[in-house]
Amino acid sequence: MSAPITFDNSYSRLPEGFHQHQALQPVQRPAMIQINPSLAAELSIDEQWLNSEEALGIFSGNTLPSGATPIATVYAGYQFGHWNPQLGDGRALLLGEILTKGNRFDLQLKGSGPTAYSRGGDGRSPLGPVLREYLVSEAMAALGVPTTRALAAVATGEQVYRETAEPGGILTRIASSHIRFGTFQYFAATQDLENLQKLADYALARHYPEAEGKESPYIALLDAVITKFAKLVAQWQNLGFIHGVMNTDNMLICGETVDYGPCAFMDNFKQSTVYSAIDQQGRYAYQNQPSIAHWNLMTLAQALLPIIDRNEEAAIEAAKACLATFPERYETAFNDLGAAKLGLTPSSCSTELLNDFLTLLEQHELDYTLSFSSLKDQIISDAGSEPEPSLAAWLERWRQALALETNLDQVTTQLSTANPVIIPRNHQIEFAIQAAYQESDFEPFKALNEAVTDPFNEALAMSDFAKAPAANERVARTFCGT
Ligand code: AMP
Ligand code: MG
Repeated sequence: MSAPITFDNSYSRLPEGFHQHQALQPVQRPAMIQINPSLAAELSIDEQWLNSEEALGIFSGNTLPSGATPIATVYAGYQFGHWNPQLGDGRALLLGEILTKGNRFDLQLKGSGPTAYSRGGDGRSPLGPVLREYLVSEAMAALGVPTTRALAAVATGEQVYRETAEPGGILTRIASSHIRFGTFQYFAATQDLENLQKLADYALARHYPEAEGKESPYIALLDAVITKFAKLVAQWQNLGFIHGVMNTDNMLICGETVDYGPCAFMDNFKQSTVYSAIDQQGRYAYQNQPSIAHWNLMTLAQALLPIIDRNEEAAIEAAKACLATFPERYETAFNDLGAAKLGLTPSSCSTELLNDFLTLLEQHELDYTLSFSSLKDQIISDAGSEPEPSLAAWLERWRQALALETNLDQVTTQLSTANPVIIPRNHQIEFAIQAAYQESDFEPFKALNEAVTDPFNEALAMSDFAKAPAANERVARTFCGT
């Protein structure tokens, strides 16, 4: 059987300064844990082949598929607000790009061994973070959020050493591309304007071809990225998703969510929620995500300045005007998504109605996802569920707003399509990882994966996966796991 993946590696054809070639570093006893047939279908990869020994060889970094040119890419970035002039793929390898149905996707191995950018790290990944990223990125995709995807997870059969020895794993990650804000920042900081422009032209052609011919193509690029992030972060807020490590090396120019390290979905609604153990100042708290995205976009704009206009003042003026549109674009996107969550059209949903609901959830320590997904029970007369007493007055106002909507059937449909019953809850993810670690039992992982990739299925509303954690199950801290 021959590998049904045809690679076309445009990024590796960019000049030397963009990447380092890297040989594979085989692992001892790879075993397939999970493959993703529906994603494979989207990529035109044969599902049967996914189960083959050859596929396992490729997804464990033991076999080089024909046509692949493994590289580690260079970037820089602001990490927790502090400039880091040189980062890069320290535990990831870009095997190449898949061209399918007119689209181009990166295929990257994460955890496949050290590269020129590993900075003393081992380039490997424990299995826990692999399972975690698999679950959360696939849940995000099912929830309709732009995201990198997980094509396969393998166990390496080797141990990696963190605080203790842990089993190793490799994730095969698919992305529209892995070009980061930090990739631009690397070339801007090294004053390599030729490569900065090459990168911008490459990004325009690959992701924003409609902006290519514009009079100011790099302002058009910035504008397109701002549009993507306004919507993306509104979706995160709308779902109670906390990214946890919004460094500029973790922001993709294509607007997909990337780097599922210490991320988590909120249980109880609380604006100041932070999960990441390393985010001690709460920089990346839930409530800060929109303003951090704006700040990150500002640092991207700064990197683009030298190619926006040779006249620095003119470049700054143009970039500032573009950046100034972010807050309103974000607010509009957030309010529109919030209105849909309440079963309302944006024009009949006041921002107070939405914000007052959120305030009540926080005051009464109510579960974010369940509070929204149970709203429709309040308009179905025989649903039999008692409203939360603390919400009674608000529910009355909500009903008055609903009365202005012409089509009540449409309201219930909208409530169901905008409010998932299943999110990948932290305690469920931890449970699945512990079963894998302690008993080599992947069934909880597989069952959770089934549930989180079917988030709007109301038949799952009674399952354990839909439940909020009991007090003793709550997970308050998450870790990068690097
Ligand atoms: P992250 O916090 O996951 O965004 O990672 C920040 C940087 O550290 C990236 O450039 C990674 O490639 C690098 N890195 C993280 N974990 C490892 C590891 N185990 N070995 C080598 N480099 C790593
Ligand atoms: Mg990262």
